[in-house]
Amino acid sequence: MRDSGVNCGVNMAVSSPLLQAVILAVGSELLTPTRTDTNSLFLTQELNALGIDVRYKSVVGDEPDDLSYALRNAVPQADLIVVTGGLGPTADDITRNSLASVFDLSLHEDGVVAAEIRSRFKARGLQMPEINRCQAMVPDGAVVLANNKGTAPGLYLEFAEIVCVALPGPPRELRPMFRALAAEHLAPRCQGRGFFRRVLVIVGRTESHVEELVQPVYARWRHRVPTVRASILASLGQVELHLSISGDDAKEANSMLSSAATDLAAVLGKSLVSSDGSSLEEEVGRLLKNRSASVAVAESCTGGFLASRLTDVPGSSAYLHAGWIVYSDEAKTSLLGVEPEIIQDYGAVSEEVAKAMATGALSRANVDYALGLTGIAGPAGGSVEKPIGTVCVALAGPSGLVRAKQIQFPGERSRVKYQASQAALDVLRRALLE
Ligand code: AMP
Ligand code: MG
Repeated sequence: MRDSGVNCGVNMAVSSPLLQAVILAVGSELLTPTRTDTNSLFLTQELNALGIDVRYKSVVGDEPDDLSYALRNAVPQADLIVVTGGLGPTADDITRNSLASVFDLSLHEDGVVAAEIRSRFKARGLQMPEINRCQAMVPDGAVVLANNKGTAPGLYLEFAEIVCVALPGPPRELRPMFRALAAEHLAPRCQGRGFFRRVLVIVGRTESHVEELVQPVYARWRHRVPTVRASILASLGQVELHLSISGDDAKEANSMLSSAATDLAAVLGKSLVSSDGSSLEEEVGRLLKNRSASVAVAESCTGGFLASRLTDVPGSSAYLHAGWIVYSDEAKTSLLGVEPEIIQDYGAVSEEVAKAMATGALSRANVDYALGLTGIAGPAGGSVEKPIGTVCVALAGPSGLVRAKQIQFPGERSRVKYQASQAALDVLRRALLE
């Protein structure tokens, strides 16, 4: 670890490899509930792809003392500090001056940058306001990073032991600037290292069940060189297994990840949705397309959410033909031919009604598969027999296939709706795999 003295002095001669980064997102608005720091997510992904780990990240308000403090703390921890935001022309844009003060550099006006900012205004028929001149102030020794999307140029400072980069806050300005910076300045200092990742999406098993299944397999991969790192992430209705390798041989890393994914697929069986991070709706779409099969949906409790997820996939018109939102009993009967007696005898939330919805949709849309979904999303409408979260999903398919199941989901309204859509998509996926 480097000591926190920051009297680095710009030095282009030495170039140690970049291994660890700290990200500082600057902006008081990012400390309120109204704005989120999304730049650091983009930057983390891009840095990881270069084989650079993010050691930590901080959000700092537009306070010179706070940013100076954060910069001084970051110096001993990082090979690369990426500051985003605070490069605008207003008094709350403090990044330029804080960098100069922490790294003990003078600022000078860069004539080329000033001319560029002036011409951006001129192109819009405007005269450059005087306050924008500060955006042309550059710390001595800094490389200016061109901004094709706005007025704030970025800054690249290279010292003997550390690189510090300042990028504009707006994501549409930051992204292209970072990619150009990575290609020109960062990649050459990453020695071809990369971060290789594989995401396995699993549905229909709990996190602990997945853990039990994968641990014995993973134990075989943990001690290989380079190490395959694995982490389990549970989200609503699915579990993700993230495999990663940090290394300098892309071919070797990708082949190891493929072998590890194949080993894991063997124990996960049909609960494995994809080994490339594809979502359940994408995978269902892929299977339907491969089999030249079509689908329709009949939804009650999800109110169109299932159809919405199916149509999130580009090209879904190739297989999704129609959808009905049949919220009331009358609509179930008049639009899909669900017999009133079935609703009366079994209740609107029942496997029988879900089946009748699916078969009604199948024949009316003239498709290969149809899903029926009915449930109690809450907060009202639950009973002892059928508590909130009771969902019935049915699938009608070729050769008279009709099946249904009742599932009990935890959580409030939006969570029940999401899990119901997940269950319906998974029922279809499993049928398509048979
Ligand atoms: P600035 O460069 O500080 O003038 O930021 C300009 C605008 O960019 C802000 O108002 C935000 O809308 C956006 N922005 C700044 N920082 C971030 C960030 N870390 N993530 C996402 N958006 C940001
Ligand atoms: Mg700002």
